[in-house]
Amino acid sequence: LFLTFEGIDGSGKSTQCRLLAETLREQGHEVVLTREPGGSNGAEEIRRLVLEGDPDRWSAETELLLFTAARRDHLERTIEPALAAGKVVICDRFADSTRMYQGLSRGNLRAQVDKLHKMMIGREPDLTILIDMDPEIGLSRAKGRQTAEERFEDFGLELQLKMRAGFLALAQEFSPRFRVIDGTQSLDAVAADVLTQARAALS
Ligand code: C5P
Repeated sequence: LFLTFEGIDGSGKSTQCRLLAETLREQGHEVVLTREPGGSNGAEEIRRLVLEGDPDRWSAETELLLFTAARRDHLERTIEPALAAGKVVICDRFADSTRMYQGLSRGNLRAQVDKLHKMMIGREPDLTILIDMDPEIGLSRAKGRQTAEERFEDFGLELQLKMRAGFLALAQEFSPRFRVIDGTQSLDAVAADVLTQARAALS
């Protein structure tokens, strides 16, 4: 089973990925917890190239190519082998983040994103959990844990509002695959909703 988490910065995706991985492991599943950009040696190197240093180093187009290269490596080295071995793969962001970031917010490149995805990636998750919340809540959470790498993140509220709407539209577009969970609930309540959805997908 290939499960991905999506959402705006500060939505709590990474925490929920970890919690779900722990719970499924306790229940006897073999779980590979991974993330994008990154998730394989080569893709982690590309992550550093893209997320560290001058945010204007790459054009949106070049960034799209780098993220696609990273995803291809991650897919070949980490995701596909784990799925072939019958493991549950939980991934913090995947192609839907590229549809949003390179396709909508950093560049108007959705058509190119879709072509590259079809040509070089192909794989879609079995289930995608969108942790949805008001960006003002997400922003205050994300700011509290800002690291150098996250200088890359744009904390502008307007952009985050656009991203939230974009993710919700994407959930409609790929509706059987997406489940939208209210991220403003308590951490435990979100985790319980996530587990319900993951269990349904596993059965
Ligand atoms: O999920 P995480 O906080 O690790 O993502 C780091 C940043 O990478 C995001 O805030 C986003 O700005 C950027 N990103 C991107 N395009 C993607 C995935 C992530 O620009 N496809």
